[in-house]
Amino acid sequence: MQPTSSKPFSYETFPSSGLVAYFSMEIAINPAMPTYSGGLGVLAGDTLRSAADLGVPLVAFTLLHRKGYFQQHLDKSGMQSEDVQPWNPSDFCTEETARITVSVEDRTVAVRAWRYNLVGRYGHIVPIYLLDTDLDGNSGWDRGLTDHLYGGDTNYRLQQEIVLGMGGVRMVHALGHRVNVYHMNEGHAALLTLALLERQLGGGPLGSATESDIDQVRKKCVFTTHTPVPAGHDRFSTEQAIRILGGDRTARLEKQNCFRDGMLNMTLLALRFSRYANGVAMQHGKVSREMFPEFAIDSITNGVHAPTWVSEPIQQMLDAHMPAWRRDNLYLRNAIDLPESEILAAHASAKKALFTEVETRTGLVLNPKVLTLGFARRAATYKRATLLFTDPKRLVEIATAAGGLQILFAGKAHPQDDPGKALIQQVIEDASKLSNDVLRIAYLENYDWDLGALLTAGVDVWVNTPKRPYEASGTSGMKAALNGVPSLSILDGWWIEGCIEGFTGWAIEDGASDEEEATSLYKKLETAVVPLFLEAPERWARLMRNTLAFNGSFFNTNRMVKQYTRNAYYPVKLIETASVKEEVLAG
Ligand SMILES: *Cc1c(COP(=O)(O)O)cnc(C)c1O
Repeated sequence: MQPTSSKPFSYETFPSSGLVAYFSMEIAINPAMPTYSGGLGVLAGDTLRSAADLGVPLVAFTLLHRKGYFQQHLDKSGMQSEDVQPWNPSDFCTEETARITVSVEDRTVAVRAWRYNLVGRYGHIVPIYLLDTDLDGNSGWDRGLTDHLYGGDTNYRLQQEIVLGMGGVRMVHALGHRVNVYHMNEGHAALLTLALLERQLGGGPLGSATESDIDQVRKKCVFTTHTPVPAGHDRFSTEQAIRILGGDRTARLEKQNCFRDGMLNMTLLALRFSRYANGVAMQHGKVSREMFPEFAIDSITNGVHAPTWVSEPIQQMLDAHMPAWRRDNLYLRNAIDLPESEILAAHASAKKALFTEVETRTGLVLNPKVLTLGFARRAATYKRATLLFTDPKRLVEIATAAGGLQILFAGKAHPQDDPGKALIQQVIEDASKLSNDVLRIAYLENYDWDLGALLTAGVDVWVNTPKRPYEASGTSGMKAALNGVPSLSILDGWWIEGCIEGFTGWAIEDGASDEEEATSLYKKLETAVVPLFLEAPERWARLMRNTLAFNGSFFNTNRMVKQYTRNAYYPVKLIETASVKEEVLAG
């Protein structure tokens, strides 16, 4: 697929080395810092952890999110309420002395940065700068601009994006970093391109920018899109853009065709100013090219940071058999002939740790011998958390035939997502009606990094039921795979690549309706999952080690960051060859 109008991907000149600045609205840096909401932030954190392990020269920028992403409470009826999670930056970070300003509406807002040193396995440091507007001299409103992740309305969001994108670029320079590559992780950071263009013009008016100025910016920028549906892209009205960004900047963005359907579209802006762009799974790259046909959008499939997500008992087993796995996740391939008894024992111990936590939190005592399914993710309606309950009678029959079935749910709804909140209530209501001696169901509060790690390592099967094609990638199933836990999922996102039927897990077949897909889910449980689980533990153990060897060795950020390095940051000359380029983009 060749670019047409604006020739965004010129492979002529690009850096072969030099510092990368990675920009992301959220980054899961440390389990004790509530600076992330979900998949995007966890991916960003895992990316940086692997970059630090691999020694990639990289610095990262995000917002401080002083009030944290929220703590979730669920009442008896499953109604969600939220508490802020304020945290103290100086417990984790050091304050930089540099100060920069950005203009927001007609105001000048001062910005500082807190530095967190992310230390890799061999001591390489990836500094993460958390931008903060809570400074004397800023108005009360402006001091709160870096308080809430995904809080407030679109006015607040656009102002935050100015701080992240434009503030971030200024901070890069104020801190004295010489950056060759700017990586926008999702469209929230797209305004960094505007700040780079302003620098390119050396203070001259934006109206004077030539195609060659734009090209200079483009040579520095790469972009990863994460959203497979048009409604998911960040968009702002012309009125908002003029009022908040200013008339000149808005006019420039209009001139560069960054508006779609009358809205400033941050994905389009990022694409227009990038020399390279990618989706986060093969299928997502394809869907993105269909949404933006004038751009050549590559795919780099997501991963997870293996040492972060592999449970302690599995880590010990891997250290004993293939110690090189930490340095290079490719060695996880050798899990293919792990002793069956060892993988079963390691998993049993992760399952026990999870069940202990469930009992502490809920009082519910689970049986370690019983087949246990996990379903934890953001409570967005497209993820269809209630699909498992479509036919309650059938579910109870399956549970009875299986000698019992346990299902653990978790997930937060965005505070403003009422349908998402209603979905949680529905799951909890269905669960309380259905729970009996053979079927035990719990919904765990406050899904976060720690709970996510316990769940993905401790259940027997990881279930995912998104409506196609809404799941760009998904990464929780990868965490499960790294713990030898197979998935039972809709063929969307990463699972299209990860599913080898009966070998790494099972596919829920596509259907014309929710009911049809639920029927396929039940059928797979009944005819594939339950019989294998009941039959012989050695056969289940083989499935586990296949999952770990095949999917663990690929769906990790160690592989993914190497791909970003070679395909995006410092692309090999080879990719200039037209035929190779076509091959890459054909997926
Ligand atoms: C891994 C993770 C996610 C992302 O998982 P999905 O498969 O994309 O739903 C979200 N939240 C938390 C807390 C996680 O650990």
